[in-house]
Amino acid sequence: AKASGKASWTRFEPRMRQDVVNHARLGSELHNALIRHELYLAYQPVFDITTGRMSGAEALVRWHHPTRGFVSPGDFIPVAERSGLIVPLGSWVLREACMQLAAWHAQYGDLAIRSINVNVAARQLRETSFVDEVAAVLAENGLLPVNLVIEVTESSVVDGRHRDTLQALHDMGVRLALDDFGTGASSLSLLRAFPVDVLKLDKSFVDGICDGEDRGRLAVAAAVAQLAEYLNLYAVAEGIETQAQMERLRAMGYRLGQGYYMAKPLPPGDMAALMVENAQR
Ligand code: C2E
Ligand code: CA
Ligand code: CA
Ligand code: CA
Repeated sequence: AKASGKASWTRFEPRMRQDVVNHARLGSELHNALIRHELYLAYQPVFDITTGRMSGAEALVRWHHPTRGFVSPGDFIPVAERSGLIVPLGSWVLREACMQLAAWHAQYGDLAIRSINVNVAARQLRETSFVDEVAAVLAENGLLPVNLVIEVTESSVVDGRHRDTLQALHDMGVRLALDDFGTGASSLSLLRAFPVDVLKLDKSFVDGICDGEDRGRLAVAAAVAQLAEYLNLYAVAEGIETQAQMERLRAMGYRLGQGYYMAKPLPPGDMAALMVENAQR
């Protein structure tokens, strides 16, 4: 056992060192990416799973690197958070998503979705100018606060320093979604302390549904739906990949859902086409 432990260590070490090097390089390349316009947004529709109507969309950042090709946000967002680059990057995402929504409103009127979800990192909430920035971006684009849903994770909400910022956004009329809900530590007390409007059940719990075995994850999924109902919040299930999962979640009381089964994150043109087609059904 000792020998194999050592063998696996020597096997992983080069890769770990490579990771450290990659992160440093990724950080500086990401800085250039912002300047060189290598970033763009994809939009994943959110559906009312009881009617099949599209109710909104989540903006998800994409990076096409000239030589590396597609880099996953799961890889570069953490790097951007550590370096602080998430602040200008996040500002760009907010502005771009709001501009896109306003363009859809102008072009498609009532056929367009009403609101857009934007992911906001803890580091952005800490900027004293964040609330003003949100107000300015909405005004610049002729949007109302109800047109924006800000997605934050439980871990960024746990930090008491963000309370006033989130309260101010909520008071303005911007809706707040708690992303990856169920994966954090102190979910229940947070819901009393923060002005949350939406709970997004993490994909990991959706994965467990219909596997047959996993009673634990199934129980969390059901409990989150009930919790949302009691507290008068919206519940969104994310990462729905099969019809069986969708039906099970609907039976549990989920009204909103997002996932590859309904639609993957789409480039703006495809998103607009699906949006208009859905609204005309
Ligand atoms: P997230 O906010 O939880 O976003 C959901 C992720 O799940 C997205 O991955 C989406 O493409 C993926 N997804 C949705 N439905 C399915 C499904 O049915 N099956 C599977 N396998 N995956 C599904 P993506 O776009 O790679 O983003 C990963 C994470 O990167 C996001 O997780 C979010 O934490 C972060 N991120 C993305 N864009 C931004 C951004 O603009 N700002 C910030 N701060 N973070 C972002
Ligand atoms: Ca999200
Ligand atoms: Ca999520
Ligand atoms: Ca996630």
